[in-house]
Amino acid sequence: MSYYKHILFATDFSDHAESLIDKVRYLAKDNQACLSIVHVLNHLAMTDAAYGPIIPLEGEFMDQFYKAALSKLNGLADQLEIAESKRWLETGDPKMEIVRIAEENSVDLIVLGSHGRHGLALLLGSTANGVLHHAKCDVLAVRLND
Ligand code: AMP
Repeated sequence: MSYYKHILFATDFSDHAESLIDKVRYLAKDNQACLSIVHVLNHLAMTDAAYGPIIPLEGEFMDQFYKAALSKLNGLADQLEIAESKRWLETGDPKMEIVRIAEENSVDLIVLGSHGRHGLALLLGSTANGVLHHAKCDVLAVRLND
């Protein structure tokens, strides 16, 4: 029996997320579900991962980040055999964009990691937590080991 029809994988391209990718693949297969993927680019970049100054990303810098992110997203989506029309690269607040994409596309399960690359999350609050509180569908936070 399949519980989920449309699964959305939210990725921040963490290096330690192999187990997450395996679970996403398994969940989609087991549920015979449609699989989508989303990455959200923040408008802000930090020069120091912990407490350094925050520099707004704009113009050429933003274009470069966008292209790099698109290439990573496509690599991961190819690995998971996700259709091109189901790949989302958005800009803005990660938790709100993930929830918006889920709602607009009738997603019934969002899968993400228990924690991410941090940096901005230290200041802005956890994406996992935010998605859990705002999403109207189920959310699975896969425990990640560092
Ligand atoms: P965090 O709560 O920010 O530590 O991240 C938890 C999980 O949320 C990560 O393992 C990712 O699965 C997802 N996530 C974090 N940031 C983003 C992002 N910018 N775009 C898409 N997914 C994200």
